[in-house]
Amino acid sequence: MKKKIEELWGARQKERIGSTETGGFAFECPESPGIYHIQEGFLIAELVNPANDQRVEPGEEGELVLTPLYRNGMPLLRFKTGNLVKSAKEARCRCGRNYLSLEETDHGIVIRRLDKLLKIRGVLIDPIAIENIVRQFEWFGEEYRILFEKKGEMDEIRVQIELKDQKELKEFEKARLNLMEELKRKLMVRIDVEFIPFGKLARFEEKAKRIIDLR
Ligand SMILES: [Zn+2]
Repeated sequence: MKKKIEELWGARQKERIGSTETGGFAFECPESPGIYHIQEGFLIAELVNPANDQRVEPGEEGELVLTPLYRNGMPLLRFKTGNLVKSAKEARCRCGRNYLSLEETDHGIVIRRLDKLLKIRGVLIDPIAIENIVRQFEWFGEEYRILFEKKGEMDEIRVQIELKDQKELKEFEKARLNLMEELKRKLMVRIDVEFIPFGKLARFEEKAKRIIDLR
């Protein structure tokens, strides 16, 4: 499609990005492919660390926060888009612009949505990161659950993992402690591990939810 339009019009086609809430806010640089300049004359853009809302450094990933200056009817102040993006490292682009700019990644401009993250004891946890560790566990069966619970005043995470082996659960105590240690080392938060005999967790295809927030 892009090529067709370019041939038909004899012009180079560039992308613009925007959102329903803010309207268009960035355009692809004519000279640096994959770099998107934010139209800072029309809005104030910030990239912040989603865990503490502090600004990130150039070249780092952060949540895109926008304050459009010329929107009528629905004013937005520091609107958190929920999109994790990467800022360009160079302060000035080769085209001469020095706007805040976004860099396209292997996942696109939006690296991922942030509403999938869950906050626990001040740390943002990505359930996908837990899943990646659990799936590499040598005794992992077919299913797992991640439970967010409240114990007293504290939020706790418990991962239920189905074992592929039918042996007694107590024989896996050492493996369980090792896995807990690995989760803590990689995710910086204590996560309890509970092993479940094979076949005792509902299958995901049966519309069972894998992430359950009980807080
Ligand atoms: Zn440029």
